[in-house]
Amino acid sequence: SGKRVGFIGLGNMGGPMALNLLNKGNSVTVFDVYPEAMSKLQDAGASVGHNPAEVAEKSDTIITMLPNSGHVQEAYAGENGVFQTAKPGSLLIDSSTIDPSVSKEMAALAEKKGMIFIDAPVSGGVMAAKAGTLTFMVGGPEEQFPNARAILEHVGKNIVYCGPVGSGQAAKICNNMLLAINMVGTAEAMNLGVRLGLDPKLLSSIINTSSGRSWSSEIYNPVPGVLPNVPASNNYEGGFGTALMTKDLGLAQNSATRSNSAIPLGSLAHQLYRLMTVRGYAKKDFSSVYQFLQKSENS
Ligand code: NAD
Repeated sequence: SGKRVGFIGLGNMGGPMALNLLNKGNSVTVFDVYPEAMSKLQDAGASVGHNPAEVAEKSDTIITMLPNSGHVQEAYAGENGVFQTAKPGSLLIDSSTIDPSVSKEMAALAEKKGMIFIDAPVSGGVMAAKAGTLTFMVGGPEEQFPNARAILEHVGKNIVYCGPVGSGQAAKICNNMLLAINMVGTAEAMNLGVRLGLDPKLLSSIINTSSGRSWSSEIYNPVPGVLPNVPASNNYEGGFGTALMTKDLGLAQNSATRSNSAIPLGSLAHQLYRLMTVRGYAKKDFSSVYQFLQKSENS
């Protein structure tokens, strides 16, 4: 501990991660375009920068946790970006879920300046971010992995080396594509069962001791009332937004196109989530696909 860490992007995930870094004894400098997000961290003892360049000036390691590829390009390579002021030898860790080709682009720019850029997207969600139990999927030069792990251990439990830069994103994108497919499948099966007259709790308990079981059926069931502490039982609020899942499925689509890979169900899930996004579900948790499939009042 005792490291000088910069943290950029203090949203649902980044906020609690930055707080955990502070609580582990690091000196932390933060930046977010939304000032409210910074004042919380400031109250907890963090310094504040006015832009990514100011954060980089005061840090040896920088972590970014931003919504998408465009935000990452801006924070590193934009005007007042990290690349303007970070010292040679700085370790730049991007934990956002973005296009692996953008991770490679950022790594190449960093290398020219003698800095090290690695991708380290996470799985685990907001609860795991708060508890410090995230899983990190790390891509970058293998000799840098121990340095990255030393800092990521302050915010996560499983830190996994995946290969060269972009490999962490590749692993994350595959996982989330499967998650979406499993969620749509679970919602379809549950909707069919309920319409056939089955009690959703009974059907879930059967699925969860049978071969149809998945994380989506067992831990994150999409039917209201089946599990107590999931978004489905809280009007699909909190959790992992439909808009973010749609973004991740778009990344899977791009990667599949570039690598000539067939992903028929991933493509279908992408279009289904895109449809939900334009039909008012963008901010609801992605398990709301169950609600989207339900019979409406007048049909
Ligand atoms: P979020 O929208 O809650 O937070 C993003 C934050 O970045 C916001 O506070 C925003 O103001 C800030 N921001 C945007 N542009 C900025 C810029 N140029 N400079 C500084 N700050 C800027 O998003 P989140 O839920 O924290 O997700 C962040 C990333 O983590 C996404 O890529 C997401 O896909 C991924 N992720 C999210 C979850 C989850 O459950 N929410 C789980 C795993 C991975």
